[in-house]
Formats: sequence, C-alpha cells, structure tokens
Amino acid sequence: MIILNNIKYSGKARTSTASINNKEIRTPFFMPVATKAAARHLTIKDLRDADVDAVIVNSMLLSLKPGKLFVNNCGGIHKFMGFNRVIFADSGGFQVMRPFFKSINNNEIEFYSPYDKSVHKITPEKCIDNQFLIDSDVAMVLDHMPLFNATKENVVESMQRTFEWAKIQKKYHDELKKQMDTQQNLFGIIQGGYDLELRKQALSDITSLDFDGYALGGLAIGETREEMNKVFHEIIHMMPDNKLRYIMGVGHPIDILTAIENGADCFDSVYPTQIARHNHILTNQGIIKITQSQYKDDQKPLDENCDCYVCKNFSRAYIRFITKIDEPIAYQMKSYHNVYWMMNFMKKIRDAIFENNFDELKKKYLDILDKN
Ligand SMILES: [Zn+2]
Repeated sequence: MIILNNIKYSGKARTSTASINNKEIRTPFFMPVATKAAARHLTIKDLRDADVDAVIVNSMLLSLKPGKLFVNNCGGIHKFMGFNRVIFADSGGFQVMRPFFKSINNNEIEFYSPYDKSVHKITPEKCIDNQFLIDSDVAMVLDHMPLFNATKENVVESMQRTFEWAKIQKKYHDELKKQMDTQQNLFGIIQGGYDLELRKQALSDITSLDFDGYALGGLAIGETREEMNKVFHEIIHMMPDNKLRYIMGVGHPIDILTAIENGADCFDSVYPTQIARHNHILTNQGIIKITQSQYKDDQKPLDENCDCYVCKNFSRAYIRFITKIDEPIAYQMKSYHNVYWMMNFMKKIRDAIFENNFDELKKKYLDILDKN
C-alpha cells in the first residue's frame, strides 16, 4: 500500500512523505539502479551512507539468474541483497531497446539471455510472477515501449498492446495478492511516444485501471530535451494526484528539475554511476571531467560543497591519479560521490518545495548545469 502524506506544493512541484508498505520515504526521490541486485561499484553500505532510500532491480534478468524461486527461497529481494528500504522491480519491457531483444507479439516478448544467448519468452503473467516471487515493494507492468523513431501506427499498436497487457496483469496481480495475503504494489506504465494526443489517450486508458501508482515510460531514449519537456508539461500534472508519479529512466539533473516542476515524484536512472565510469563528476559548479590535466595538482575535493566521505578525505589530484593508473577503487569513489551528490540534490529540491521556493532553486541549478 502507498499513501502520500503531508503533500506540499510550490507551483505544481510537490513534496510529500510517502509510506510505501510502511516504509517512509520523502518525495521527490531518485533511485539508483541495481539491475542484478547490486549497484555497479557500490556496496549497500555506500548506498545507505549516501541516504539512498530506494533502488530498482530488473526482475527479468534476476529471473534468468539466480532465478525468481532462488531469490524467493533466500527470503525475497530485500533479504537477498541486504537492503531493507524500498525496492522497485522493473518488468523488462525496456528490453525492446536492448541488443538482446528478439521479437514481440500480442502474447509475449522474446529475448536472448545476455548470459548465454538462449531464447526466452516473457508473457504478462510471467512478468508478474517474476516480480511477485522476488517480493519487491513495487512491481511494474510489462509494457510495449515504442522506439523513439516509431511510426504513429507502431505507437498506436504498442499502446493497445500495453493496455491489453495492463488489464490482464492488474487482474492477475490482484488475485495473487488475495491468495498470498501480501501487499506488493503494482504500477501502470503510460506510453504513447511523442504525440501528445496519444500520450493523453494512454494516460486515460491506464489510469482507468486503478493501479497503485503510475509511471511515464519511453523517455530519454534519443529524443531532444524539448520533445521530452513537452511530454512533461502536458502529461505529468494530469496523472492522478493521490498516487506516486514515476518518471522512468530519466536522470539528468536538468530533466529531473523540469519533471518535478510539473509534479513528478520519483525517478530511476543509471546516470550518476554511468557518468562516473566515464570520469564525469557532478559538482555544484557544474559537471567536471576529472581526467583533464587541469586537475593534476588540484588539492581541492571533487566538490567543495559536498560533505561525502570522498570529498572530506581526498583531493581531485588523488582521484585523477588513481583513475589514470586504473585502480579499481577509483570507480567506487567516483560513483559514490555522484550518487551522494544526486541524493543531496534531491534533498535540496524537497526542502525548496517545502519552503515554497522551488523556482529559485531550479534557476540556480540551471545556471550551473547549462554550462555543461
Ligand atoms: Zn562528494
């Protein structure tokens, strides 16, 4: 069960204390990605030290290895990965974007295992089984995400399929919950590409099914920032205001600010850890590339305004040096700082909304981040 308590607004931006299966989490929040039950280069202790309250795992990949029953026998995903806060599970619909996608029809998605290239099928019911058995707090429906360059005909087809699958999965999930007496939440996913009328139709279809929360999918897949912003402006505020509004796969701080300005509550993305692996560091002066020669003798921390463990103890010169000689610990340090920075960024956003000065904070960050 999810309840949004004490909702406060600053324009359309909103903050609340969400209770997700009795775990309290302040919104808006950002979820680092732990695809295979581990965040890349970060321990669970690192995540908790950085105040990470929620992560997302990929149920389809976990169903291949170690297997959904295995995770279930280990006591569920929280116990298995040692993270007792909120865990979302993704359905696998995003795989249509990936190289191991094979085909899709009205009954299933076919894909190649990234482990051994064997062919697997995922049906709407199987997708629910995967997530139900790993016992995440939130499960996502299996959807058909249209690619960025899809024709209108393809987008309409994917919407109809997503709606049909959503109906099947809602009913099936309700039955399982009743039988097993559990509290997992199921979110519907609103697709519809970049045609705003189609997005509105998808919103109307999916919200008619009374899910526990709603996600906007099919964003940050190659479109321009302007195209993404149009969807944010037109659609987010129309999503039910008594449910969590989740923007999937969006992680650039500028896009997070725009989505929140329009009423978004939560996000997931590989962004902070992925850019860390490419040596890009989030700072309150903009994004810097730590391998550049200008940081060779720089004794300052990665970000002078950051109080994370890495910034309190190490210099840019040191992080640059261990990066250049390819010490494995450099990946952890850069990833840790970036995730910590994102968590702090989200906290500042929540505080600004609470104090009703979100616009001021947004302007400040746009001035900093637009330079990059
Ligand atoms: Zn730091």
